[in-house]
Amino acid sequence: MKNINNYTLSILVPVYNERESILPFMDALNTSLHSIKDKLDIVFVNDGSSDDTKRIIESVIESDSRVSLVNLARNFGKESAMTAGLDHVQGDACVIMDVDLQDPPELILKFLELWQTGDWDTVYGVRVDRSKDTWVKRITAGGFYRFFNWIAAETKIPENAGDFRLIDKTVIDAIRQLPERNRFMKAY
Ligand code: UDP
Ligand code: MG
Repeated sequence: MKNINNYTLSILVPVYNERESILPFMDALNTSLHSIKDKLDIVFVNDGSSDDTKRIIESVIESDSRVSLVNLARNFGKESAMTAGLDHVQGDACVIMDVDLQDPPELILKFLELWQTGDWDTVYGVRVDRSKDTWVKRITAGGFYRFFNWIAAETKIPENAGDFRLIDKTVIDAIRQLPERNRFMKAY
């Protein structure tokens, strides 16, 4: 059993040209996670945005000390942005999520509940319905998972799981040890 009362939960959010999304994201997070609002460490990674994403995050930080920013000098892509963010999160566990609210923030409480049992180091979300994806995306995604799990001898990845997941600090520490620059976070 993890310490249920005395923990910090990091929320890691890579962002690239997301000026419209930052404030709605913060609103949604504040609503869904009201019950654990004092336990949060919210880390945005600005992945070289060319719009004023950085300025908007800085203005959020002015009135919310739970929020911090890792600012990358140029666009490195989401995988690298997540990796950079993991070096800065301070929580006992960390949830990685997109800013566009395609990952429902209310699920975080469910992730947290499972993590607190102490039985799981990683808890991830799985899409149960891809009907809103285009047929090209459905077929390529299905083919990708089948191919990856066919060539992967031991480390299978769960089908239809995105990057939306909670990872324990022990997992974060393990990822921090990895020297690779080319990342594929879904397979960790
Ligand atoms: N993102 C990023 N760097 C990039 C592209 C995207 O940090 O070069 C961020 C983006 O702002 C969002 C998340 O990664 O928070 C997922 O991006 P997107 O919604 O475009 O991906 P999809 O939903 O198509 O997987
Ligand atoms: Mg998206």
